[in-house]
Amino acid sequence: MNGPGEGKRGSRGFRNIALIAIILIFSLVILQSFFNNSEARRELGYSQFLELVNSGRVAKVTIKGQTLTGTEADGRTKFKTVIPTNPPDPELFPLLKEKGVEIEVQSEGSSSWLFSALVWVLPALLVIVLWMWMIRRMQGEGTSALSFGRSQAKLITKEFSKVTFADVAGIDEVKEEVQEIVEYLKDPQRFVRLGAQIPKGVLLVGPPGTGKTLLARAIAGEADVPFFSISGSDFVEMFVGVGAARVRDLFRRAKEERRPAIIFIDEIDAVGRKRGAGIGGGHDEREQTLNQLLAEMDGFEKNEQVIILAATNRPDILDPALLRPGRFDRKITVPPPDLKGREEILKVHTKNKKLAPDVDLHILAQRTPGFVGADLENLCNEAALLAARRKKSAIEMQDFEEAIDRVIAGVERKSHIISEEEKLRIAYHEAGHALVSKLLPKAVPVHRISIIPRGQALGYTLQLPLKDKYLFSKEELLDRITSTLGGRAADELVFNEITTGAKEDLEQATEIAKSMVISYGMSERVGPISLGRDNGNVFLGEDLILNRDHSEKMSALVDEEIKRILEECYERAKRLLKEHQAALKRIAEELLKVEVLEGKRLDELLAEVEPQTQPQPQPA
Ligand code: ADP
Ligand code: MG
Ligand code: ZN
Repeated sequence: MNGPGEGKRGSRGFRNIALIAIILIFSLVILQSFFNNSEARRELGYSQFLELVNSGRVAKVTIKGQTLTGTEADGRTKFKTVIPTNPPDPELFPLLKEKGVEIEVQSEGSSSWLFSALVWVLPALLVIVLWMWMIRRMQGEGTSALSFGRSQAKLITKEFSKVTFADVAGIDEVKEEVQEIVEYLKDPQRFVRLGAQIPKGVLLVGPPGTGKTLLARAIAGEADVPFFSISGSDFVEMFVGVGAARVRDLFRRAKEERRPAIIFIDEIDAVGRKRGAGIGGGHDEREQTLNQLLAEMDGFEKNEQVIILAATNRPDILDPALLRPGRFDRKITVPPPDLKGREEILKVHTKNKKLAPDVDLHILAQRTPGFVGADLENLCNEAALLAARRKKSAIEMQDFEEAIDRVIAGVERKSHIISEEEKLRIAYHEAGHALVSKLLPKAVPVHRISIIPRGQALGYTLQLPLKDKYLFSKEELLDRITSTLGGRAADELVFNEITTGAKEDLEQATEIAKSMVISYGMSERVGPISLGRDNGNVFLGEDLILNRDHSEKMSALVDEEIKRILEECYERAKRLLKEHQAALKRIAEELLKVEVLEGKRLDELLAEVEPQTQPQPQPA
């Protein structure tokens, strides 16, 4: 759906002139040959011609250089021949005179004036064309006469997007927010009449794969306006001045439309990074590009009817100048989808796929917390590929289950050699997580455990829900820590040895304990006091920052409490596993056999273990 590339466009002037020149030349040539062959002539050999003269049947000849044309005595039949001129035939003229033939001699060039004109005009024309072309380029590109900006500017694409809001699922609030932009693009006059100010620049912010690019296209598609897009990384080139030229081109082309249009700069952080931080003191290519971008945005008329969208997942590193009023002053956050959103996105991406009746998108959504739109799309595709490989007529739930594993931890590395000893350890570790979770009334249920190495993780226990819950009780958090430490507890209990395999478990458990003490006031000894800021969801593993405005004593107490919570949870996990060692063994052995335990089978194995109902002594 791409429009004509900018490369073609840029030299359009030159092409037009060249085309006209070529047409002109051709018509001259055709004209010339037309004149020459205006009458049909019989071609004769020289001796044939002499014979004709001797027989007295020639009335008149016209000689031009080597060419002789003549008319026969009947006055109608014409002929043509070539006569020798170097040396000339000395008998020709006496013979003609003797036979009383009328002789006309023309100067050689006279009737081919067109041709000789061509010989002179052609080079001149070429020179003029070339010269005009150079001038045009110089004007267009400022200093860079042989600019790369235009020739490679095909990176800027103009399209009429076919994507609509129906293709963007699960982020309804965002869609509502951008609805206004769509309305404006559809009918700018409605807003202008009322003096309403529409933001010139809108920044879409969100993690990768949440659908920012998709949303930008959908806005263009909904409003049915031309969509000019370029990716920030395309700006970053080796040649200085290229980026700036592209920015200029981009805005020029959008303005040339003379109607509502969208300019979309994807991954703007590649070019919009804070200035002055570049290598070489900040007079680098990126900075020039950014300056040009700022200048173009400022140079926009109020009624230009062009809206600039940009997308980034790093708004924190953007140059503040970009975010000032009149530039990207509207920020729209595109968050990762929640449970309901994920189900809707799955619906969109399975719309054209053949699903078996056992496929339950709601369950799939439950099993994919943290998945963004791109992951879900990938998931659907993987599932389809798996089903196809197995020559199925429809995609079954089983294919989706496997696809989830693949997407979560990269492609299965079955070839990765893992010793039996290691496998045994991983099996008990994962079984430890699963069993402890099952034994704790408030812990999150386990959906699947696996000992197949994928990506970085050796094995994993998938617990859900993770992010779709926003309120946690102290008990839930403690249970969570306990089940997270269940793996390490099993290691110690069964093998009486601890390994490096629990690194991420420890990090996660510590993070939860830390936020309990310093953010949620869940430690009685520290009290209901907030001692830190946590930037985001604790389970995302984001850093908790401890404020510096409290006493040494408090700091020590906080550390003590975190340690105590973790230790008590750990002891609790060990105790639970010890009490149910038979169950632990059963799960681990089953895991060794089938490598992945999921859904029903896991429930069956766990059901043989009664969940512990009497309250456990809670660490404070
Ligand atoms: P971003 O630009 O935020 O990194 P993209 O827009 O490039 O993400 O998304 C990549 C792909 O993932 C899209 O082409 C689309 O197929 C899918 N996708 C992402 N978010 C959504 C969504 N909300 N609804 C439907 N599909 C989505
Ligand atoms: Mg993108
Ligand atoms: Zn673990």
